[in-house]
Amino acid sequence: MPPITEMHGLLIADHEPTADRISSLSGNIASMVDASRLTASDDEHDPEGTTIAFELSQASTLLDAARNHLVDVDAAIARVTAGNHGYCERCGQAVARGRLLARPTARTCISCAVAG
Ligand SMILES: [Zn+2]
Repeated sequence: MPPITEMHGLLIADHEPTADRISSLSGNIASMVDASRLTASDDEHDPEGTTIAFELSQASTLLDAARNHLVDVDAAIARVTAGNHGYCERCGQAVARGRLLARPTARTCISCAVAG
């Protein structure tokens, strides 16, 4: 298992850009919602409205993913702090170093992840 400080560093390095992404996506969504109000028209086939709706749904999907990721990152940071990071939640075995380096938020070892 990699030293705790190394994992902590990786997770902290992931936290900030994720938090930034959430705030910029939230800002984008807010301005798209404003824009869609301004361009609201009775014509359901308005191409501009369709584009905004599409972009809005894409941005919402990205925002959800970023929020979920931040929850995972913060939970992993909490596990590092508690001293139980790097152990599989299912079988209790140490999670392989390579897996943790690739995915510091991993909660399970590869065997358990593959088993679903
Ligand atoms: Zn496991």
